Amino acid sequence: MKTLTTDVAIIGAGPVGLFQIFELGLQGLSTVVIDSLPEIGGQCSELYPDKPIYDIPALPNAKASEVIDNLWQQAAIFDPTFLLAERVEHIEKVSEHSFIVTTHKQTQIHCRAVVIAAGNGAFSPVKLKLPLIDKFEDTQLFYRISNIEHFRDKNVVVLGGGDSALDWSLTLQKTAKSVLLIHRSSNFKAAKSSVNKMYELCEQVKMQFLCGQVSSFQEEENKLTGLTITSKDGVNRRVELDELVVLFGMSPKHGPIDNWQLEMHQHQIKVDTQSFQTSVTGIYAVGDINYYPGKRKLILSGFHEAALAAFSIAETVLEKDRIPTLYTTTSPLVHQRMGVEHTLEEMLN
Ligand code: FAD
Repeated sequence: MKTLTTDVAIIGAGPVGLFQIFELGLQGLSTVVIDSLPEIGGQCSELYPDKPIYDIPALPNAKASEVIDNLWQQAAIFDPTFLLAERVEHIEKVSEHSFIVTTHKQTQIHCRAVVIAAGNGAFSPVKLKLPLIDKFEDTQLFYRISNIEHFRDKNVVVLGGGDSALDWSLTLQKTAKSVLLIHRSSNFKAAKSSVNKMYELCEQVKMQFLCGQVSSFQEEENKLTGLTITSKDGVNRRVELDELVVLFGMSPKHGPIDNWQLEMHQHQIKVDTQSFQTSVTGIYAVGDINYYPGKRKLILSGFHEAALAAFSIAETVLEKDRIPTLYTTTSPLVHQRMGVEHTLEEMLN
């Protein structure tokens, strides 16, 4: 079991979780950030990385991925620790200022406060709905590729029609024995250039494409050996395989959040708007996951919430009545925390 110790655990590395790192850093507090996705950025990275956002203050037109890059650049100076591809399952309150946050991989984060920046829930892969197929998960059935070498010289079937399915099919065909892409129709969500490349490779007999849906699977001696594919006209075809990669996309799942015994309002966590604290002292919620009268699910709102939550956390953890507002422009203490160098002239002024 891995154990980490920090001032504050942040659950969720979406835009608001990333800004929370920065705001807590300004208060001199260290952070560990946990996200179920293998990369940072939440909805911005997962759902619309190439779409421009027009309502981030001082960034009139920036792609969602650029907003995330900028947020990361701003937060990185405080050197947060990231636990990616880990889903938080439990939050245990040990005492007034002591919590243990536990992930599905049994990593434990010991901290003095918790910020939930969990958006609409943990992003998880959309699963193949076939009774009993899940017993092959992580041995022959994969929803994410982390080690491409596992597929070398194997007969691989890839399911899906989005960018991931197409990109991975094109990549895997270079080293796998064979790649068969299966999608329910010949309309793809993926970029046209990838689809054209896939058809080109099929013509060169370097991979294959089949239109249809998986209706059952075959196994021998506890090994997945094949799938039955039913086409639109009802014809069944059997395909043999060594490995199955399912890339149907990601969807957010509330999952564990509902069990954390926090006061909720229609699947959103109730907070007070002074501190963004939840019904449990020491646990805060910011961004899309929280609820208060007038709440708007906008990145801009999340930034404001993260700033006030950081002040409140600092006051609680450091047991101070009120932390003064310090300007990043002029405060030597903030500059020291940020590692900002001063010229001699600035110091004399
Ligand atoms: P999210 O971005 O949802 O990130 C939450 C993260 O928490 C996720 O990565 C998730 O995997 C993780 N997580 C959740 N539960 C757990 C757990 N138990 N363990 C580990 N990790 C967990 N907003 C604007 O302001 N302007 C726009 O123009 C705009 N355009 C949009 C366009 C689209 C198509 C969509 C879908 C949304 C748009 N939004 C826009 C909304 C904006 O994306 C959200 O308000 C914002 O992403 C919320 O940020 P967040 O950090 O609160 O949550």
